[in-house]
Amino acid sequence: MKSTAHPNRSKVFRLITIASSALGSFVLGLWALKFNFGVGPVGMSPEMIGSMIASFCALAAGGASMSYFAGVDESADYVFNETQIDKLTGLHSRVAMIGKIAEASIAASRKGEPVFLIDIDIDRFKQINDAIGYGRGDDLVRAFAKRLKENLPKRVEIGRIGAGEFCVLYPDRKAMPSMDAIINDLIEVMMKPYQFARHSQSVNISVGVVALPKDGDDPTVLLRRSNLALQHARLRGHGNWAVFQSEMGEVADFRRWIEAELHTAFERGDFELHYQPQFDLAAGRVVGYEALLRWSHPEHGMIPPMEFIPIAEETGMIEPIGRWVLRSACHDALRLPRDCFVAVNISPVQFMNSEFIAVVRRALEEAGLEASRLELEVTETAMMQDRERAAKILNELTEIGISVAVDDFGTGYSNLSYLVDFSFQKLKIDKSFVSRMEKDESSGAVVSTIVGLSRALGVHTIAEGVETENQAVLLKAAGCEAVQGYFYGRPAPLSTVFAKERGRVAATVH
Ligand code: C2E
Ligand code: CA
Ligand code: CA
Repeated sequence: MKSTAHPNRSKVFRLITIASSALGSFVLGLWALKFNFGVGPVGMSPEMIGSMIASFCALAAGGASMSYFAGVDESADYVFNETQIDKLTGLHSRVAMIGKIAEASIAASRKGEPVFLIDIDIDRFKQINDAIGYGRGDDLVRAFAKRLKENLPKRVEIGRIGAGEFCVLYPDRKAMPSMDAIINDLIEVMMKPYQFARHSQSVNISVGVVALPKDGDDPTVLLRRSNLALQHARLRGHGNWAVFQSEMGEVADFRRWIEAELHTAFERGDFELHYQPQFDLAAGRVVGYEALLRWSHPEHGMIPPMEFIPIAEETGMIEPIGRWVLRSACHDALRLPRDCFVAVNISPVQFMNSEFIAVVRRALEEAGLEASRLELEVTETAMMQDRERAAKILNELTEIGISVAVDDFGTGYSNLSYLVDFSFQKLKIDKSFVSRMEKDESSGAVVSTIVGLSRALGVHTIAEGVETENQAVLLKAAGCEAVQGYFYGRPAPLSTVFAKERGRVAATVH
């Protein structure tokens, strides 16, 4: 719909109204003439005065109704632009989209043709925006909207319904070959890096889907449900999508509970670090420990990090928690054997924060720990968000003498060429490859390729999730240098690690 047209007022309607007001006033004028209102002050005949009044009346009425329409239309136009169109992207606004969803749901139940409502959200958009600045944040939203439009069929309704959230109404009949394929393709294309004049930006997205009219007819309920499906998809990791199911309400309650509880838990001191050994295959000994966060709730017991870390990242709670993890791990490292380092997981949100380097330096200084005894585990995804910034941060860390391991390696971006630009010391092969190694030959080939790549780049390798001796043998054969997993030791509190270390030292002495 064009923004200038008023839906209830056609051109003919205006002409008729203007003409009829003019005619009405002219008739009034004639009446005045007929009853001889007033006698001409300057000797004008009453007929003359009457017809002048009639003409003025006609003119004034015509003008008034014209300006009335112009004014009304101007404000209607203004209101329309303000409320129906998203200024930044030119897409439908949230208000407009609610109307479109209502229309689509009526049409879907009348025709019996389902329509899908697809909710697309940029993960951690608020944090990205804070890190890159609002100007670049706006550029990103515009580029995202443009790409979304280009990759959807014409006449599919698209709206921006939140800061980094979009929604699409997609009729089933247009979904060829299938909705699954369309959403998978869309996620893939939307997550490709966005190139700007001076930087490149990558995003992760999560997608939730509801079907109209099956999942409801009220637009607000439908939007809530598509968002529930989206939150559900997000918990499964980046670039996922999910279709709404009624049980998702309970998950949402759990999420809200975690969100509300995190702050109290942190203040109350519910958090603790556990340490898992990293074993060097050639040296035949433990060379480091990975710090893994544990939340032990006084009533609900252990809550796994995969359940609360994504929420802490979204709410920003990961900043104080992450600082605490760094400080504690650096202090704990002093109690570990001197030839061991401590490895700390860094969330993409922390990594992007402009204070990050200062926070790391402070943690080292406060504990009095040498930089060479700290390793940071950063995922590929975190590095790809803003490559230039990432390269700068990695260089600074290397200068300080801190080692960086690329965590979950192999699960992120298939384009490995970016690795050449980055300064890091280790590739950490994801456990998904390790667990498949024994059954699936191609996983073995992937591991060998990663080891080959690491040699070409001059960096070390470690494999995670090693649960059996056989996996360790295969990894050693593939050339992997270090291993970590239940086979070598489960994550345990520092006191347990400490006791074990003492036992080991005692055993070697006697
Ligand atoms: P991650 O960095 O990939 O950590 C490895 C995960 O694999 C840990 O899960 C560990 O307990 C588990 N694991 C270790 N050995 C084995 C094995 O042999 N088999 C299997 N199946 N799993 C093994 P956890 O502790 O539940 O942590 C999950 C994720 O939470 C971590 O994945 C990391 O991404 C995140 N995380 C944990 N602690 C922190 C933290 O302090 N800060 C941040 N930002 N993230 C953290
Ligand atoms: Ca890790
Ligand atoms: Ca991992």
